[in-house]
Amino acid sequence: MNILVLNCGSSSLKFQIIDTDLEKIEKGTDRELAKGLIERIGSEALITYKVEGKPPLKLTSPLRDHKAALNHIIKWLTSGEAQIPGIETLEDIHAIGHRTVHGGEEFKRSVRIDNEVIAKMEDNIELAPLHNPANLKGIYAAREVFGPSVPQVGVFDTAFHSTMPETAYLYPIPYQYYRRYKIRKYGFHGTSHRYIGYRYRMLTGKSREETNIITLHLGNGASACAIKNGKSIDTSMGFTPLEGLMMGTRCGDIDATIIDFLAHKEGASLDEIFNMLNKRSGLLGISGLTNDMRDLEVEIDEHKDRRAQLAIDMFCGKITKYIGAYMAAMNGADAICFSAGIGENAPEIRAKVCETLGFLGIQIDKKANNKMIRGKEGLISTPDSKIQVFVIPTNEELVLARDTCRVVQNVPMP
Ligand code: ADP
Repeated sequence: MNILVLNCGSSSLKFQIIDTDLEKIEKGTDRELAKGLIERIGSEALITYKVEGKPPLKLTSPLRDHKAALNHIIKWLTSGEAQIPGIETLEDIHAIGHRTVHGGEEFKRSVRIDNEVIAKMEDNIELAPLHNPANLKGIYAAREVFGPSVPQVGVFDTAFHSTMPETAYLYPIPYQYYRRYKIRKYGFHGTSHRYIGYRYRMLTGKSREETNIITLHLGNGASACAIKNGKSIDTSMGFTPLEGLMMGTRCGDIDATIIDFLAHKEGASLDEIFNMLNKRSGLLGISGLTNDMRDLEVEIDEHKDRRAQLAIDMFCGKITKYIGAYMAAMNGADAICFSAGIGENAPEIRAKVCETLGFLGIQIDKKANNKMIRGKEGLISTPDSKIQVFVIPTNEELVLARDTCRVVQNVPMP
């Protein structure tokens, strides 16, 4: 079964074609056939297409909207240019899986998209004003291009965290605001945390119930998740992705009073303040240089830049703090798993985070840690470390494809 996986932003579209079915899921033999990225939709779009085993193709084309972008992809796939075995016509795409950011309280698992689901997603626009409209654009475009007979499935970023208990998801503000407006912690990156949990089970042979781990998705956006008995019981992002860890450009946890104080001092609107907290804070805000971890490391190596070092120290400190809190909330965990851009590629950050956790009996195998980069998966703690530490490259697209397949085949979600 060829699944087209779509991740639509307001002016971008990322896609993968993944060949999967229930047997392939079971055996882990499903595979990516092609992928691509279209940016700057609405003007002269930048397009990158990549087929397994071939060099990437880069081009530009004026693309008015997401439908035009999707048509461009289809043309490339079916014109003989891409030459993907098994994909010759539109009919060779059997289903579409959409990354959908906010499922609110309605969507606790992946669902087939119908008019009712679309209506609920539209209701949730309030909760995710940046993301849900972009996801919906992708859904409408796919309906038009593929027609109603090709099933579309929504895989929600929030769904994995729907198992959090009330004590974790409620904010200690008057309860009526939860009842009236559904103000609560939803959590994000759920598809990634779920995948990391799945890979941990594959690597250790543990059952879901035996899975007691802390997962760290450390990319430009970053979040931690406490997984107890296989279920998310707490996560660091909240009502929006602004809460929690320090990130590339987001501040993470701060005292809410700062917002009002700064608005007065700077004569700034709330929009301006939130723009600053989302886009000019975090690693960028503290270093004053960049939100990119690689560039910060270069600044430290070459110029001993104090604020670049401070930014990294704060970034690591915040992760350690969350790990400590989750260890307590879970009554101990068996493993910590690092993932995403920084988690998968920055051994010094992993070492720094784990050093501070030495009191828990965590010991890192330096050699293994340094080796585990660029997509490698495995253990980086020593055999006598009391808590295991893994690097697990995330693969949200694979979860999207597998869920799409399961929903289409009517088999229960794991
Ligand atoms: P997102 O998907 O949230 O945009 P990614 O998961 O792609 O983010 O992660 C981006 C982050 O990963 C950036 O801060 C980048 O600097 C960092 N990163 C990627 N490769 C390395 C590396 N080799 N060393 C340190 N940091 C890296």
